[in-house]
Amino acid sequence: MKFSVIIPTYNRAESQPGGLVVNRSVLAVFAHPDDAELGCFGTLAALARAGFEPHILALTNGASSCSPDAAFRTAEAKESAGVIGADLVIENFVDGGLEPKRETYACVNDHLARVRPSIVVTHMVGALDHQDHETAGRAATTIAGRTPCVSLILQSEPPLMNNLFCPDFYVDITAYMAEKLNAMSRYRSERDKPFMAERAIRDRAAWWARQAETQNLPTTRYYEAFRLVKAKLDFGLLAALGPAAWGKVGVA
Ligand SMILES: [Zn+2]
Repeated sequence: MKFSVIIPTYNRAESQPGGLVVNRSVLAVFAHPDDAELGCFGTLAALARAGFEPHILALTNGASSCSPDAAFRTAEAKESAGVIGADLVIENFVDGGLEPKRETYACVNDHLARVRPSIVVTHMVGALDHQDHETAGRAATTIAGRTPCVSLILQSEPPLMNNLFCPDFYVDITAYMAEKLNAMSRYRSERDKPFMAERAIRDRAAWWARQAETQNLPTTRYYEAFRLVKAKLDFGLLAALGPAAWGKVGVA
């Protein structure tokens, strides 16, 4: 008698709903260049280390911010994405005027169809911190929620006005803090913003470590915190992530 053993394989190009094959890519959908770095760059770095292909989508070029021109901010974003070899696309919606209209949703849908991610990370919806963040988060969450290949949807911490942010999902980024700080430092035009300062980034991540790990912390540890929107139990995804790359899931 002949026995055969089926070994789960991972193929970026194929996704079989309900099976053990997952699409090992993650798509971060944010409004401006620097948003993904602030909210989830450590997580993207951890996923890249675990074999995931990181993709960053910025729906505007951030031209209304501190940059001398849009090209400068775009160059900074490319440098930053390069820290972990992430694919970066910057769309041309109006900075400060990103609207919840058909074109915005269609654009996000096109990128989800292009990347076919198993993980989508975006802005928190309802944070009241920036109108573009609200639109981008709502579009990404809505489209990802009805895209079959997406097993995990996370909303990241807003840089300001985060009194409404109640996380329930934490990622240990201690081993990836250097990459996050390296990426943030590339935004030279943004360095005067208080939430872009290294001290602020470290304090925030250390605070989430205090929330995620209730035992004594022998050394300084860093976490990124998220609101969990959807988690579909997918053993292929869990195997791909591996226990070392992830912190525990907890309730604040
Ligand atoms: Zn932003």
